[in-house]
Amino acid sequence: MVDVFTPAKRSEIMAGIRSCRNERTELRLIRLFRIERIAGWRRRQKIFGMPDFVFPASKIAVFVDGCFWHGCPSCKRGPKSNQDFWHRKFAKNRRRDRTVTRTLQKNGWRVVRIWEHSLKDGAVRQLSQLKRLLEETRATKRRLPRR
Ligand SMILES: [Zn+2]
Repeated sequence: MVDVFTPAKRSEIMAGIRSCRNERTELRLIRLFRIERIAGWRRRQKIFGMPDFVFPASKIAVFVDGCFWHGCPSCKRGPKSNQDFWHRKFAKNRRRDRTVTRTLQKNGWRVVRIWEHSLKDGAVRQLSQLKRLLEETRATKRRLPRR
C-alpha cells in the first residue's frame, strides 16, 4: 500500500486509534456476526488505520466508532468540564477518521463505520450495509470467468 504519511504522522494516527479501541464493543460485534452468519472476518490486521475487523477476500474494513471518542452526533456524551479541550479533541478524532477512510478507499478498500451505540441496541440493522457489500463481492466473483 502506498503510504501518504510521514512515519511520525502515521504513528501518531495509529497510536490515537489504538487508545480508543474498545474490547467489549468488538466482542458485541462478533456476537452479531455469529447471529447474522457473517463469516470471513479477521481481527486486528495490520492495515492502515487499524480497522477493528477486515474481510480480506472482499477488501472490506469495519470500524466500530466509540461514541465518546469519535464525537457521536446522536449521543452527544461530551464531558461537562473543559469543553473546549474536548471539542478540539473530538474534532481531531473525526478528522482522523475521515483521513483513514479516504486513504483506505483510495487503496481499494470499502469502509463500514458502525457507531458503538447502535451495537448496544443490538441493532442488527447496522449490519445491513456490510451484508450488502459482502453479497456484492460474492456476486462479482461469480460473474468472473473461470480460468
Ligand atoms: Zn452514539
